[in-house]
Order: sequence, then structure tokens, then C-alpha cells
Amino acid sequence: MGFLEKQTDPTTPMHWRGDMQADYFYPSGIAGDKFFKHLKINDTFLACKCAKCSKIYCPPRMYCEDCFVEIPDSNWKEVPTVGTVKVFTVAKLNAHGKNLAKPKVVAFINIEGTDDSMLGIINTNNLDNDFTGKKLKAILRPHDKREGTIKDILYWEEV
Ligand SMILES: [Zn+2]
Repeated sequence: MGFLEKQTDPTTPMHWRGDMQADYFYPSGIAGDKFFKHLKINDTFLACKCAKCSKIYCPPRMYCEDCFVEIPDSNWKEVPTVGTVKVFTVAKLNAHGKNLAKPKVVAFINIEGTDDSMLGIINTNNLDNDFTGKKLKAILRPHDKREGTIKDILYWEEV
């Protein structure tokens, strides 16, 4: 069944194979913008604390996701670019199902001094290692090469 054919059988699956152009633009938002501008010139992350529930977010948010209360600038602070692995996986295929030249260890990392986590790539050749609970440090681009994006975090490595 083609895209322009009229469907007469409601039980017929409605799909067709083809390509569709989809362009995306994801703004980092006010809090994300401040986070990345800070990271561009500093070697620390920014975090923020909800005054109501005390949850500490990193990257910071304008509002607490649990309480829905605004988090003012006065509740923002710097935290070190270190964290602890909560979970990890070894990726051997890219998004198109092709083998990666080198497998990547992708980890969900709890940022020290916060209740929040970020995804990161662990720089390692030891793919059989259990990284759960390991302490990591973010390796950042040299200052003169930073762009104020997530790419300023090159990778994470064990402390
Ligand atoms: Zn809260």
C-alpha cells in the first residue's frame, strides 16, 4: 500500500518504507546555557539545590522536577567534575547497527555532591571491567578549545 492509496481495510497496517527529512534543534534552555557558559571557562560543573526538598541537580534546572518550585540563582553552586558510576554498558554498535571501530563504555555517573547524574563515555581499554561504583573524573577540553557545549567533556576516566 502506497502513501496516496486509500485505505479500505481498517486492519491493514498503515506504514510505508521511505526516508523523511527531520531537522531538529534542541536549545539547552536558560539553566543549560548557564551550565555550559560556566563550563567553557571553569573546570567545575554548576549545580543547584531545591529550597523545598533539598534535591541537588547537576546539570542545574530552573525548577525542581519533584516540587515544581523555582530554584533561584542564589541556590546555585559549583561542584567538582567527578562522580561515581551508577550503571554502565559497553556499546559495540553505532545507531545504524554497524560495528564501532572501538567499543565505547557508556556510563550513568552520579555527580559528586549532587543527587543527579549524567551520561558519559569512560576512556578505557578494559571492556571486561565492572565499573559500577568506580569514581571517575571528567576530562575536559583545553580551555582554548572549549565551545560551551557537552563536547567540552571529552570523556571520563578512573580517579
Ligand atoms: Zn524540590
